[in-house]
Amino acid sequence: MKALVTGGAGFIGSHLVEALLARGDEVLVLDNLATGRRVNLPSAGKHPRLRFVLGDVRHAQLARQAISSVDVIYHLAAHVGVRQIVGHALESLLNNVQGTMVLLDEAARLGRRTVLFSSSEVYGQGRGETFEERDDLALGSPSVLRWSYAAGKVVDESLAMAYHADRGLPVTVVRCFNTCGPRQTDRYGMVVPTFVRQALLGAPLTVHGDGHQTRCFSYVGDVVRGVMMLEKAPSAVGEIFNVGNHEEVSILDLARKVVRLTASRSPIIHVSYERAFEERFEDIRRRVPSLEKIRAFVGYEPRVGLDEILRLTIASLRLPGDAGTMTETVTTHSLKQ
Ligand code: UDP
Repeated sequence: MKALVTGGAGFIGSHLVEALLARGDEVLVLDNLATGRRVNLPSAGKHPRLRFVLGDVRHAQLARQAISSVDVIYHLAAHVGVRQIVGHALESLLNNVQGTMVLLDEAARLGRRTVLFSSSEVYGQGRGETFEERDDLALGSPSVLRWSYAAGKVVDESLAMAYHADRGLPVTVVRCFNTCGPRQTDRYGMVVPTFVRQALLGAPLTVHGDGHQTRCFSYVGDVVRGVMMLEKAPSAVGEIFNVGNHEEVSILDLARKVVRLTASRSPIIHVSYERAFEERFEDIRRRVPSLEKIRAFVGYEPRVGLDEILRLTIASLRLPGDAGTMTETVTTHSLKQ
């Protein structure tokens, strides 16, 4: 198989590239390196079955060329992270929607199998105990910038469903739930690398609000495996799936776990949402996926639990080579503010 991975130099993308190469596929990565990094692809330029193209998926001619040379497309190229979305709302929204429009249009023209990466963020506050794919969505007002990421992803998903219905595009949408693991940067506010970095540096762990909000963290390797199973399943075409883990933890307990697993002396402090983001920030209190559908279609089960995810992330950030990465991360972040 020949696969195109847009955003393949990013966190999830680079793990997907690795897994595709490991099973013998040829992989073409299209990435503008806005947030992705070449070093995420350790063998770029050296691996005989990996080709890297520096470019933007919004460039229709480039996208057409790339798509015409592959059998399957994994579309991940997007601005991500709550901090980035709130700080660069317009750019993020335009980038995410325009990129997907171009990609789906070209994919439909050429009839290529496509997997579109969406996000659990589309559920907003959610409707039930666990979030099911057929649920109505519960997003907040567009005047709260946080929701613009979800709004963009909802447009992406609707485009995918419309291209499937009207142009026969063989597309599957995956909604990832708080994916984490090695190579995830803390630059865009994601909580696991943020807490791990803070703990390793001996800095306070910054819990937003009361810390009783909950999430279910999924290991990137599990997510990639689930996505690859869905790509192979003809019954998954035209469908939307949650991919993740259902082990629920509060953010305060997550902070405590990180402190324990790193044997850090860092204190845990509470920071108000207003200080961390903006005045009218709205957080999601509870987010738990239903995994019934993906289980029924392809037999997916997550394998890596939270403690193991944290151990792997801690080990990767402790590596000597990553000390520089962490410093660079901090510098870039503070320069942007
Ligand atoms: N969070 C936190 N401290 C941080 C970064 C994040 O308490 O330094 C919280 C954040 O407010 C949210 C949760 O951790 O309640 C998950 O945040 P993240 O940005 O990782 O993912 P998302 O909000 O998209 O689920």
